[in-house]
Amino acid sequence: MNYTNLQAVRADIQAGATNCQALVRQYLDRIEATKALNIYIEVFEEEALEQARQLDQKYQQNPESIGRLFGMVLSLKDVLCYKDHEVTAGSRILQGFKSLFSATAVQRLLEEDAIIIGRVNCDQFAMGSDNGNSYYGQTWNAADPERVPGGSSGGCAASVQAHTCLASIGSDTGGSVRQPAAFCGLVGMKPTYGRISRYGLLAYASSFDQIGTISHSVADAALLLEVMAGPDEFDATASHRPVDTYSPLPTLDRKVRIAYFEAALQHEQIDESIRELSMDFIEKLRSDGHSVEAVPFDLLDYIIPAYYVLTTAEASSNLSRYDGIRFGYRQREAADLSETYKKSRTEGFSPEVKRRIMLGTFVLSAGYYDAYYTKAQKVRRLIHQRTNEIFEEYDFILMPATPGVAWKGGDKSNDPVEMYLADIFTVQANMAGIPAVCIPLGEGTANMPVGIQIMGQAFKEQEMLCFARHYGPDQGQSA
Ligand code: GLN
Repeated sequence: MNYTNLQAVRADIQAGATNCQALVRQYLDRIEATKALNIYIEVFEEEALEQARQLDQKYQQNPESIGRLFGMVLSLKDVLCYKDHEVTAGSRILQGFKSLFSATAVQRLLEEDAIIIGRVNCDQFAMGSDNGNSYYGQTWNAADPERVPGGSSGGCAASVQAHTCLASIGSDTGGSVRQPAAFCGLVGMKPTYGRISRYGLLAYASSFDQIGTISHSVADAALLLEVMAGPDEFDATASHRPVDTYSPLPTLDRKVRIAYFEAALQHEQIDESIRELSMDFIEKLRSDGHSVEAVPFDLLDYIIPAYYVLTTAEASSNLSRYDGIRFGYRQREAADLSETYKKSRTEGFSPEVKRRIMLGTFVLSAGYYDAYYTKAQKVRRLIHQRTNEIFEEYDFILMPATPGVAWKGGDKSNDPVEMYLADIFTVQANMAGIPAVCIPLGEGTANMPVGIQIMGQAFKEQEMLCFARHYGPDQGQSA
């Protein structure tokens, strides 16, 4: 049985039809059967079985004592620290590095009895949109193994899509959970900046990074968020606002006001099937009594350039710690310290990571700082302001998740700018720090999955997820 939500798993456990060990075995079999998709960097086979055995025992002794995530088998993106396990950000430079502690989010999942089955592939340092930028090779889309699963959390999406786990924890700096979720027909959720602690998440661009989830159902995304969210003394940017109850989500009992951008739906890059499915969805919302209106937004074309200036600037600083001395990979033939730095970084980072470090160093350099970095900060400010103005009149902003469907492996590898443009619809949420969730809309060009994105106001995840659940895959899922 391929489960699509935790509630169904729990119902079967309660009925005696399965238990944690049987679940883990079933997922391990799937991992074996889908090896060709190159999803996992490491499978924690023995450990997951042992965790399952202990949880089954705990349940048998006292069914009341189990955590909120009992029965939830998860995969982790290779950017999240899990104590005593390797974490490499999909890069050679961290090869062999073991986490000394668990990320706060990971710790909270474990405390609620989630089982972690393995560590999945991603673009190096979460830089990329198709998983082609990993030291561990390309991960493939289970809907068409010649196509990419999206990125950078491509392994997360493929692991859920191929039913090798129930849900996955990834990170989203510019769309990295939402875009792969869209490419694989799943639910991808990025919360408000600061809602989940980033402690133990390897940093790419710290003012954009957030931990997010990929799952089959909105209800599972909501539950995972509820467990991971909240203040953390180890991350000063983690918000102190009380965490709403996300699970169970309230039912949608009102008509909402939704804004969308004509400039997005008529964008020259957009695939016709995505435009049509999005328009059909808008019509459906209208016929359900919601108000859906086009609002002007003339900043769309500035989003990508500003994002790539700001994130590369932050990345160039964040990645300076990988020097060949402190973590992971070291080139051992270097003659002195400076050569050790140079050779280790030259061999440890991929060309794309180097490109971004260089670009980031350039935009932060004395002569160009104002022309690029300060200018991009101003653009970010404007996007933030304009987005918040829209929320004065509307509950949500609706946007296609991606301009196109999953492409074939290698199709965009030679043109970084074309790859960057694939993020055009997801980056706004990270620029403004607001939550966004992508739900599947159906199949588009080449029968590949298409997703739509709902953006909400900062810290209004509950409203956003409640709406998404009403229109998401949950409705067709049996519990
Ligand atoms: N594709 C975008 C980038 O390469 C987004 C990545 C992400 O969200 N981590 O920066």
